[in-house]
Amino acid sequence: MSCTYVTLSTGQMIPSVGLGTWKSVPAQVKQAVLAALDNGYRHIDCAAAYSNEENVGEALRERVGPGKSLKREELFLTSKLWNTEHHPDDVEAACRRSLTHLGVSYLDLYLMHWPMAFERGSVMMPSNADGSIRYADTHYRDTWKAMETLVDQGLVKAIGLSNFNARQTDLILSIARHKPVVNQVECHPFLAQQQLLTHCRDRGVAVAAYSPLGSPDRPWASPGEPVLMGDPRIKEIARQYGKTAAQVIIRWHVQRGIICIPKSITPSRIQQNLQVLDFQLTDEDMKLIESFNRNERLIIPTVEKGGRKIYRDGLHPHFPFHDPY
Ligand code: NAP
Repeated sequence: MSCTYVTLSTGQMIPSVGLGTWKSVPAQVKQAVLAALDNGYRHIDCAAAYSNEENVGEALRERVGPGKSLKREELFLTSKLWNTEHHPDDVEAACRRSLTHLGVSYLDLYLMHWPMAFERGSVMMPSNADGSIRYADTHYRDTWKAMETLVDQGLVKAIGLSNFNARQTDLILSIARHKPVVNQVECHPFLAQQQLLTHCRDRGVAVAAYSPLGSPDRPWASPGEPVLMGDPRIKEIARQYGKTAAQVIIRWHVQRGIICIPKSITPSRIQQNLQVLDFQLTDEDMKLIESFNRNERLIIPTVEKGGRKIYRDGLHPHFPFHDPY
């Protein structure tokens, strides 16, 4: 068996390890998805904002469907609604566009990518002359209601959240007809998210860890910043188990019972990242890795103002990261 699963509140089984596709450029992502499917991955994490869903779809068309090696039901496909499509009138068209690009008739999971709405239109990052984002005043509650109709229509099996804090998650839970099954948030040993994890779990919302390896290829990484997979303490644990740093970190996520979606375009790494079931971290090592937490967010858009780095969306009323968790 190359997979473990997390059971969602709908009863759906989501493979604990999926392939991430952010930053996988169109020319590379098709081969990455093919390598993943051929190596036993059954869960692919996509998003309209990654501008590569058509290329992911090319790979799916080669492997999934009648007469191909995989049945659609064997695969767990996630996509995400981008911030410019939060207006209730835009939600269905956005979902249908992702379905067309991926070449499938339904998604297993559709997430609201962020709680903040941006100005409607075809520009992904609508901005003012000074670089600030042009927002819209759609509340994520109204976007959620529109997403619920996608479940009613059978376009998606389940809906969920991404980058929502505990308070925002609770607000959605309090109004939901279809409950969010997942909150996908940044999570890795430098940002262990224990409180949010407990909060979501207590309410039947599974947590998916994005940037589970510390996202060393994030576009704004600067030299000298700590590299999670290069941390000598992680490397030492990996040495003791005869595994790589990536495998130890992925195993840590899996043993915490959460979903994680490491991204790679390198076939040997794609294969390696799924080979995490033939060893087990001891309780002491699980706690040791947990102790590396420093509540450090790596995936948070920042801008320079007056020589200082500030959160780009920090003044948006629905910016999620002012709350402690
Ligand atoms: P990540 O998965 O933490 O790290 C990806 C980086 O690690 C790439 O540079 C990759 O290199 C490298 N890597 C992968 N496996 C490796 C291995 N075994 N050994 C050494 N290096 C390895 O970062 P991420 O892409 O930020 O996050 C993963 C996924 O989460 C995304 O792709 C996306 O699907 C999702 N995500 C969601 C959100 C959201 O807002 N919901 C935000 C960020 C990410 P190569 O590719 O060159 O092999």
